[in-house]
Amino acid sequence: MNAVLRLDTVTRVHGQGATEVVALRQVSFAAHPGELVAIMGPSGSGKSTLLTLAGGLDQPTEGTVSVEGVDLAAVGNKGRARMRRTSIGYVFQDFNLIPALTAAENVALPRELDGERSRAARRVARAALEEVGIGELADRFPDEMSGGQQQRVAIARAIVGERRLILADEPTGALDTETGEDILALLRARCDAGAAGVMVTHEARHAAWADRVVFLRDGVVVDESGADPADVLLESRLG
Ligand code: ADP
Ligand code: MG
Repeated sequence: MNAVLRLDTVTRVHGQGATEVVALRQVSFAAHPGELVAIMGPSGSGKSTLLTLAGGLDQPTEGTVSVEGVDLAAVGNKGRARMRRTSIGYVFQDFNLIPALTAAENVALPRELDGERSRAARRVARAALEEVGIGELADRFPDEMSGGQQQRVAIARAIVGERRLILADEPTGALDTETGEDILALLRARCDAGAAGVMVTHEARHAAWADRVVFLRDGVVVDESGADPADVLLESRLG
């Protein structure tokens, strides 16, 4: 099966000389349709770096990142921006909603930026809000919603328009446990519907929603093959 996301021997070096940090070292990784992959590892191990590279928000120092077969380095800033509006959904830990826009307007924004007419964009946005269970909140502003509701809006914005790659960096970080599980169920459902998902998490309980777990340490993938989420959960309980 063709991968939705592929990293091929990707290295990302920040800074130069004495302050040089190798955030990722020769990482190869793929995510396929229908698959939710959890990325785990200690703080500073390169998890966020991997996700921002996958989302075209940052460029590798070496190696290639491709989404749906498109090399992100080959399409330029404009091409990457376009892919972020159409192919790649990104869910941030702190929601990143625009306070002056309603839920529906926040979700519609990427499509309107892409030239879709407002009416059509809002209609698709409302459908995405329905899908994440908050259709009735479409006209509310972010500060009129709970954290869990805001994160649902952020997820709706990430999945709107059939995006095939959903990236989430600790999407439950700012939420209570129960709300966090609801958010993971949404990501899971979207992957079951055919998207590829990559989620950074530090909680084994959350990784249990994934099909497999990739462990990073010091910018290197240290374990991928044997990482069944159920084992991770067991280890965390034992440990
Ligand atoms: P994680 O998300 O696993 O905590 P990061 O990907 O954020 O790790 O960071 C990996 C390493 O790269 C860390 O040592 C971090 O300090 C460094 N790093 C990340 N972003 C930058 C940057 N913009 N400039 C310099 N160093 C950075
Ligand atoms: Mg991080």
